[in-house]
Amino acid sequence: MLKKSTHKTICSYCGVGCGIEVSVDSKGTLSVKGDESYPVNMGMLCSKGKNLNYVAQDTTDRILYPQMRWSRNHPMQRISWDTAFERAAAVFKSIIDKHGPNSVGFYVSGQCLTEEYYLVNKLTKGFIGTNNIDTNSRLCMSSAVVGYKKMLGEDSVPISYADIELSDCFLIAGANPAWCHPILFRRIEKHKEENPQVKIIVVDPRKTQTCAIADLHLQILPGTDVILFNAIARWLIEKKKIDKKFIKNHTVNFEACKESAFQLSLRKAAELCGISIDDIRTAASYIGNAKAFISMWTMGLNQSVIGVSKNLALLNLSLLTGQIGKPGAGPFSLTGQPNAMGGREVGGMASLLAAHRDLGNPRHRAEVAEFWGGKEISGEAGYSATEMFDALESGKMKAIWIICTNPIVSLPNANKIERALKNASFVVVQDISHNSETTEFADLLLPAAGWLEKEGTMTNSERRISYLPKVIDPPGEALPDVEILWKFAKKMGYEGFDYSDASEVYDEHCLLTKGTNIDISGLSYDRLKNEGSFQWPVPDPKHKGTPRLFTDLHFFTNDEKSHFNAPPKLYNQSEQTDVDFPLILNTGRVRDQWHTRTKTGKVKRLLTHIPEPFLEMNKVDAYLRNLKDGDVAVVKSRRGDVQVKVKVNYDIRERVVFLPMHWGKMLNNDFGRANNMTSDLVDPISKEPDFKYCAVQVSKYVKA
Ligand code: SF4
Repeated sequence: MLKKSTHKTICSYCGVGCGIEVSVDSKGTLSVKGDESYPVNMGMLCSKGKNLNYVAQDTTDRILYPQMRWSRNHPMQRISWDTAFERAAAVFKSIIDKHGPNSVGFYVSGQCLTEEYYLVNKLTKGFIGTNNIDTNSRLCMSSAVVGYKKMLGEDSVPISYADIELSDCFLIAGANPAWCHPILFRRIEKHKEENPQVKIIVVDPRKTQTCAIADLHLQILPGTDVILFNAIARWLIEKKKIDKKFIKNHTVNFEACKESAFQLSLRKAAELCGISIDDIRTAASYIGNAKAFISMWTMGLNQSVIGVSKNLALLNLSLLTGQIGKPGAGPFSLTGQPNAMGGREVGGMASLLAAHRDLGNPRHRAEVAEFWGGKEISGEAGYSATEMFDALESGKMKAIWIICTNPIVSLPNANKIERALKNASFVVVQDISHNSETTEFADLLLPAAGWLEKEGTMTNSERRISYLPKVIDPPGEALPDVEILWKFAKKMGYEGFDYSDASEVYDEHCLLTKGTNIDISGLSYDRLKNEGSFQWPVPDPKHKGTPRLFTDLHFFTNDEKSHFNAPPKLYNQSEQTDVDFPLILNTGRVRDQWHTRTKTGKVKRLLTHIPEPFLEMNKVDAYLRNLKDGDVAVVKSRRGDVQVKVKVNYDIRERVVFLPMHWGKMLNNDFGRANNMTSDLVDPISKEPDFKYCAVQVSKYVKA
């Protein structure tokens, strides 16, 4: 008989970061409920969060011990952890000796805890001597990172969820929070219910569930966001609905923004966006007349070949109206993953450095290198997510270590990712379960501890840092990721990895932030356990955290002003449709599934919402192809194809089709893997893939 216990933790799915109370009964059975005391969700949980106990308790598909194969023709065999570390270190050393440090790389996840993220960056950048450490967060928010840096000087989300209830106008662009950030959406919905005068504008080529609370849905043509935001900017400037005092005293580069906005007339912009000029005027007047305006966005803007331009055009609207640094106002990028923000804090991408330091700055690199006591850090960005797999395919990179992510399903042009992994000399996969299709490509498979099985911290979309306790033991021989990393580093012979637990890693990370704009040197596990969550910065042990940045209107730029930026690209640069591939494929999430379904796919209750993949298409497009609701269609791009049932409606624009990104081979076949079709194009600055736009053809499936 076990002692009953209750623990406070954080949901392991989306970037909203809801608080959860986990109870363990006398038989060891887990139950979960929303944490009523947690300021994010106040007791609420969405369907995914409510079912987390089933995922945590179900160990049927877990990886239980390290496994290895001597060559691709050999089967995997069970090995000890000692042998696993010896093998990994021997192969990495031999490849690095022969081909240099840039021949290896690590590909990690926005679901990693901050300590894991920190350590893998220290290991790669500070000791192996390469910046080839990137993350699946590259796929969801790297365009927003670039936008914030250009506008505010650093990657800094200015506001909090608490600002939602203080705002009277929301522009929700390229996001479907009703399904993808449900508890955040519930807060907006409730605010609107209680304050009907609050205006909500939704920008999306699809009529999603989020549109249910919209005063105005701008159903633009895919890829025309910059044109729309510029048109709104033009109207604001022409109608003198801008904050001249704020612009004069706290911004630079207004003329560049104005010049960009005035490139097109409102009429031309409306025509290109495929919406009415009156709708643009109405949206602009809502924003121009708002007392407190929030813009919110996610993948519809970020996952684009012009993702940085879309971010900059949107951010300009907050500066034009002076809607930043005050209650209920500011640009608010929503993160998809639970710890994408924590990853950003530790410099968890190939182009970033720890604690928001600049990889291109020699002084910053020297500071970090000295702190770590390792090698000199290169100023050259490493391979980004997609570049890493290109490098594996071409042979420039020989070995990859993949942690907590399933690139075979989640990266664009999935068939190419398969080729890249087959071509790699050595693939290490460190994950919790065999449900990740990527495990099939591993030469060395390492069992990791999952949610509730290890301790650490995460940061949600509003910069809120929370502690996650260890509640249960991991199954088999699984180890916390942070321990796997420090043991490997020691086996490589590196000094500075002599940790005994995750709190020591966290303390080191906090110390490295000291004196920076994200200073959390006032935090420790003890504070987080005893006092609850904090929003960074938290620069001393008495500091209570910072819910809102820039209240003094001094920004993180060198001149302390916020910077307007003319978007580099006005027009979309995606793969174009033509006679052979006449439709635009858009990909995204559904409410009850998460990423590649390695966890949500095994919860029966979550399959009742949408049990299988579908292709959403407009009735007109379906009619032209003799397709009815439920028919099986073949969707084909220049890179691959899938067969999938169609869902026909008028909610999606003509000549646009939508396919959920979740399904791969797991618990299914490869019926509907969206990334068989998606394109290799990325934004040239942020390197974020163009998941929302590629050219496809759709035809009725005919049995051979
Ligand atoms: Fe978890 Fe996000 Fe749902 Fe909250 S909204 S319960 S963080 S999936």
